[in-house]
Amino acid sequence: MSALPTTGREWHLVARPQGWPTAEDFALREAAVEAPAAGRILVRNAFMSVDPYMRGRMNDVKSYVPPFQLDRPMDGGAVGEVIASADDRFQVGDHVLHGLGWREYASVKAEHATKVDPDAAPLSAYLGVLGMPGLTAYAGLLEVASFKKGDAVFVSGAAGAVGSQVGQIARLKGASRVIGSAGSDDKVRYLVDELGFDAAFNYKNGPVVEQLRAAAPGGIDVYFDNVGGEHLEAALTAFNVHGRATICGMISVYNDTEASPAPRNLALVIGKRLRLQGMLVGDHAHLQEQFVSDVAGWVRSGDLKYRETRAEGIDTAVDAFVGMLRGQNTGKMIVAL
Ligand code: NAP
Repeated sequence: MSALPTTGREWHLVARPQGWPTAEDFALREAAVEAPAAGRILVRNAFMSVDPYMRGRMNDVKSYVPPFQLDRPMDGGAVGEVIASADDRFQVGDHVLHGLGWREYASVKAEHATKVDPDAAPLSAYLGVLGMPGLTAYAGLLEVASFKKGDAVFVSGAAGAVGSQVGQIARLKGASRVIGSAGSDDKVRYLVDELGFDAAFNYKNGPVVEQLRAAAPGGIDVYFDNVGGEHLEAALTAFNVHGRATICGMISVYNDTEASPAPRNLALVIGKRLRLQGMLVGDHAHLQEQFVSDVAGWVRSGDLKYRETRAEGIDTAVDAFVGMLRGQNTGKMIVAL
C-alpha cells in the first residue's frame, strides 16, 4: 500500500452568513489525515456537490437537517476512491458515494458509504442525474405530484439539476405540454432546443404571471416549484382545477433576511381545489431502484440529457456554491477535487 497523505484541506464555516454568503464566512484549513479506525474507510474525494439546501444549514436554526457547526468542516454529497480500509465490505480502489464532502480526504463510517460503479456512469453523475437531485425530480413529479399522462407541467429552476430532469421525465411520461422557466436566454434556448421543452421563458424578462400565461394558454395541471415567491403565485393563477404542486424548494428566498410575503392569491387553492405538497427526497428512498433503472436507461438511449457545470479544485468550492445560488450553473454544479 502506498503511503497515505498526512494532511488534506477542508472547508470550515467560520461565520453565519447574513443574507448572501461572503468569502469571510468560510476558511479552507489544513487537517491531519489518519489511517482509518476499525469500521471506517479513508476516501480520496474526486467530486463534491454544492447544493441549495446547504445555504439553510449555514443558519443556526432548527430544521430537517442540523446546522453546520462553526469552525468545523462542512459536509455534503461526495464521491471518491477508497485509499485505505478497515472494514471488510470495502477494498482499496473501490469507488463510493458518501456524505463527507467539502474536504479532500474523508474518514467515512463504512455503513455511511455506498459503492458506485465508475464503469456504469461517470463518477460525478452519482451526485446529479443518478443521485440525490435526480431522485428528487423523479419522486417529486411521479409520486408527490401524482403526475398522470396528459398533464400540462410547469417547472421553475428548469435548467438546474432537479428542474432539467423534471421537465424531461414529464415529456417522456406523456405530458401534454412541458413549460420551464430559467434565468437567462441561453438557458431558455437549452430547454427548448436541447431538452425538448414545449415552451420556456426567462423570468428576468418580465412578470412571471404574464410569461406563464403566454407559454401555457391551456393552463397547467402540475407545478414543480424550485423557486417559490413570484413563481408560486403565478402558478396558482395558471392552475386548472385539481392542479397539484410539488413544493420542492424556494431558492428565491434562501438569502432573504426578512420573511417574504405569502402568495397573495393563496385563496385560489379553495375554488380550484388545488393540492400543494411539500417534499423531502429522503422520504422516497423506496423509489431508488426504479429511479436508477429508468433514468440510467433513458440516459443510455439518449432520451434524457444532462449537463454539469464544473469547478476545478477544492479552493473553488465556495465560489461554486455561491455561483450556483446566483445561477451560474446549467445542470448540476459539481466541484472536481
Ligand atoms: P439548481 O437548480 O441546479 O441550481 C440553483 C438554481 O436556482 C440556479 O442555477 C438559478 O438558476 C436558480 N435561482 C437562483 N435564484 C433564483 C431566483 N431568485 N429565482 C429563480 N431561480 C433562481 O439546484 P438544484 O440542486 O437542482 O435544486 C433546485 C431546487 O430544489 C432548490 O430549491 C433546492 O433547494 C430544491 N431541492 C429540494 C430537495 C428536497 O428534498 N425538497 C432536494 C434537492 C433540491 P437561474 O439561472 O434559472 O436563476
